[in-house]
Amino acid sequence: MSSTPAAAGEVLLPAAHGVALGVAAGTLVKVTNPYGTQAIDFWVYNAADHSEFLSMDNLRSVNSVVAANRDTRLVSTRRRTLVTIVEDTSSGNHDTLLCPCNAAIYAEHGCEGYHRSCSDNHHEALGALGITVPTTPAALNLFMSVRVEPDGTITRLLPSSRPGSHILLRAEMDIVMVFSNCPQDVTTINGPDRTPRDCMLEVIPASKAAA
Ligand SMILES: [Zn+2]
Repeated sequence: MSSTPAAAGEVLLPAAHGVALGVAAGTLVKVTNPYGTQAIDFWVYNAADHSEFLSMDNLRSVNSVVAANRDTRLVSTRRRTLVTIVEDTSSGNHDTLLCPCNAAIYAEHGCEGYHRSCSDNHHEALGALGITVPTTPAALNLFMSVRVEPDGTITRLLPSSRPGSHILLRAEMDIVMVFSNCPQDVTTINGPDRTPRDCMLEVIPASKAAA
């Protein structure tokens, strides 16, 4: 199954919602964090075969890192590079360790009734492209930092990117990118005021990228 490439131009990634884009090889996608505070869960699928997708365990194995930066190869379950980080003006160290938020997490937090989640956003955004996948893979958590302590525990850090920070991603094959503007409003992962905020995506065609 293939996916029609998204049109060039800007796409709103609304607070607490998700967006999926078909992206042809060579196309750039710019992810801008206007306030610097928003965590964005990110997944990638091979457009022709959704059983191949961005893999956090293979990423850590291939790169020998626990967080992604400019030089990190974003590899698939088959250890092929799906995406290259071309630019990164954020504070870096994008988390690979923590799971996408899901209904069970918000129930643990004591939320009553439905609460949006990155897991649901992932499936909802893919559904808008007519794509169904059986599970929610681990995400690359853009703009989200954690610290692994000497005793092996994880400390969740406050967001530390400057307002207007961006990451520029290049598709290395025909793929589907999925972004979730994390709806977390109980913990401070999206800033001390616990408020998800809009972000922007910009699709830049390969022809313009090379110009
Ligand atoms: Zn989330």
